[in-house]
Amino acid sequence: MSLITVGTMAFDAIETPFGKVDKIVGGSATYVAYAASNFVKPINQISIIGYDFPAEELEEMKKRGVNIDGVEIVSDKKSFFWSGKYHMDMNSRDTLITDLNVLEDFNPIVPDSYQDSEFLMLGNLMPKLQLSVIQQMKVRPKLIVMDTMNFWMDIALEDLKVVLKEVDVLLVNDAEARQLSGEVSLVKAANKILEMGPRFLVIKKGEHGALLFHESHVFFAPALPLEEVIDPTGAGDTFAGGFIGHLAKTKDISFKNMKTAIIVGSALASFCVEKFGPERMKEITKSDIDQRIAQFVDLVSFDIDLV
Ligand code: AMP
Repeated sequence: MSLITVGTMAFDAIETPFGKVDKIVGGSATYVAYAASNFVKPINQISIIGYDFPAEELEEMKKRGVNIDGVEIVSDKKSFFWSGKYHMDMNSRDTLITDLNVLEDFNPIVPDSYQDSEFLMLGNLMPKLQLSVIQQMKVRPKLIVMDTMNFWMDIALEDLKVVLKEVDVLLVNDAEARQLSGEVSLVKAANKILEMGPRFLVIKKGEHGALLFHESHVFFAPALPLEEVIDPTGAGDTFAGGFIGHLAKTKDISFKNMKTAIIVGSALASFCVEKFGPERMKEITKSDIDQRIAQFVDLVSFDIDLV
């Protein structure tokens, strides 16, 4: 069961209260691919990079079953660059720099060999480009999941609303859900967003877990309480990769299985934050992932006698 992932492959500069890195590999599609490759192969990647993106990173991805035929390499431009600084709580951050570089003239092309993919993960990217990928699919994928961020709500809201009508699942964080809906209550925000197009909505709340909304149902998954969080960058994308990776592996897109997918996504994200960049994602094994998922089950299961 193959999966298309679309998004940025980038360099990031990150500052947290506990450390700083000036230039490490990042990007929404990078994190999605590393996470999803634990569950499904091939990962049909669509992105764009400049002359400066490390060849070793591409090799590493290929080893994990990431097909890079859809990754355009521009020989005279730099890769997308993002820089952010986290607040003391590590849940909120300020974007310091967004240098589009190669992204400025990105026109994603879906290779013919990707056309039979049944799952489509639209990682964080210009909404117009997300829409273009959907429109190029000759057969609509079984499930289209979309991630976005406040940056695009600020500068491309109308385009974003058009894409929302075409997707099945939207992933946003709590601040973005509030911004998109204009509602403070997350329940009201969810109801409004579900009217904008997606049938399912996941609201990520960082260390406070994630909520899944569908029709009148709501499901909550906690985040694993970790002693040390080194760098939350990419946690959202890693969550997305684990979420869609599980759905694509099981080929089951019911609400019930989405609950499991949320736990899988949360487990993957809990690894991502343990090191700067996607480094931790390259170390973990299936057994590490299974153990984490078991920890989530322990964390929330309890018996209660109602008399
Ligand atoms: P997350 O922490 O999950 O929101 O993802 C952070 C990653 O998204 C970083 O590695 C950045 O390179 C990438 N990123 C940041 N801003 C944007 C943007 N406006 N569009 C696409 N990707 C972005």
